Amino acid sequence: MILTEEQKMQIEEQIAELPLFAYGYLPVSEVGFSERVRYICETECPQYGKSWSCPPAVGTVEECKERVNKYEEVFVFASLSEVESMDDMQMMLSTRKEHERITRQITDMFQVIGCETLTLSTESCIQCKHCTYPDAPCRHPEVQFPSVESYGIMVTELAEKCGIPFIQEYGVITWFSVIVLR
Ligand code: SF4
Repeated sequence: MILTEEQKMQIEEQIAELPLFAYGYLPVSEVGFSERVRYICETECPQYGKSWSCPPAVGTVEECKERVNKYEEVFVFASLSEVESMDDMQMMLSTRKEHERITRQITDMFQVIGCETLTLSTESCIQCKHCTYPDAPCRHPEVQFPSVESYGIMVTELAEKCGIPFIQEYGVITWFSVIVLR
């Protein structure tokens, strides 16, 4: 653990104020990287090649792995959102914004206690209406979180290792983020 017991308590007290479903810590050595996840990005995701937060802009899976392995520990967490219809994309996206806001808050909490962070969150970055990729540098690299999957990480497997269950129920969306710490 890179955090002292006191720091962990401090984080837990603040997190208790947030609508999180579950969370846990793991050493970075427990994070698995898979070319299969990258293949899904490449062949099934419409955002592939359209954002600085997605492949190929984030680098190869091997480069992502090297980046993560320079850290020591990961904090994995999930929030749940309920929607009336899984077909209502606008409603689903609005619940994602809340999770992204929480992800920013928790990242800040770790930074305040002196941790360096690498935050991976949900899907493609939505900070700007039109991403500058690939014509110009990212406008807000300090707030842009690459997606967990863009790094080749199967987040459900990682969450399971942390004891975070994946809820498969109609109308319930589970959003995951991973904060890599040192
Ligand atoms: S902050 Fe803007 S430019 Fe940067 S990845 Fe997000 S959408 Fe693209």
